[in-house]
Amino acid sequence: MRVVSLLPSATEIVYALGLGDQLVGVTFECDEPPSARAEKTVVVGGRDTRGMTPGEIDDYVKGQLGAGGDLYTLHAGALAGLDPELILTQDLCRVCALPSGQVSDALDHLGCRADVVSLDPYTLDEVFATFTTVAAAAGVPERGTALVAALRARLGADPLRDDADPAPAYRRISASTRPVFALLLDQSIVAGCGLIYANEVLFRAGLDPYTPGRMIGPACWDELWADLRALMKEGVARGRIDTVHTAHTPEAMQRAPRVDRHGGEVYVYRRPGLPCYVCGTAIARGPMAGRNLYWCPTCQPVVAPRRARRARSSR
Ligand SMILES: [Zn+2]
Repeated sequence: MRVVSLLPSATEIVYALGLGDQLVGVTFECDEPPSARAEKTVVVGGRDTRGMTPGEIDDYVKGQLGAGGDLYTLHAGALAGLDPELILTQDLCRVCALPSGQVSDALDHLGCRADVVSLDPYTLDEVFATFTTVAAAAGVPERGTALVAALRARLGADPLRDDADPAPAYRRISASTRPVFALLLDQSIVAGCGLIYANEVLFRAGLDPYTPGRMIGPACWDELWADLRALMKEGVARGRIDTVHTAHTPEAMQRAPRVDRHGGEVYVYRRPGLPCYVCGTAIARGPMAGRNLYWCPTCQPVVAPRRARRARSSR
């Protein structure tokens, strides 16, 4: 089967399914594995942002989209020349890849009858479903099932799954001297908790992000897990991440809504130096585990005495 991938994640999926030899076309951004971009025909071009700072990339993207321009260009002639049978694309984000509508229009124009599969996952379960979808479309469904099983075995509890068991995660956390922030981001402990949720859930719990895992008592973990579940489920339902309580919404505080391309109202994430909505202290920022950590030094005191005592008394 002749497969064309129009987004980097689909290219990785194709290789993970052992179908690399059937891949004929990729985008200029498909660099994993590195051989993809080097050995296959590039059918989607765009500006090479390597060497640009995050700020320069942000300005470029905003400028292009603001002017009604495109970030990606489909090389229709090259695509037609590959005579693809299966094209993998997406509709989630026009900043991340070509929208599938443009692909369908181009195929109609070319008279190409390839099977177009759009991969648009919002949750971890849906990400796994894209693996089985691609495997089925490529005629090797058993490889998709095996890949998902292997990946699931490496992951911790997924807060979005009703059948998730948080007990193994707590056993890891309560035995660790690593900071709770880093533990929440460890996908082998909690699956799918990203940077925003890790920062926000610790603020909402009033917990110092540097607190060692072994200081987290079982009741504290139960609260963290329940809050993480509620926030993540709401995020999926609303399509954006909001973590502020009703008392701290823009309406309740009579303040302007947050302006950030990630959207949503949050307490600490990407708010360094701005006043805490609860106490007015400037939000702090620091690196941890290679990620950006944000916290309120007042609302999340360095040693959380109440919780630490609870942890000690529960042993
Ligand atoms: Zn505060």
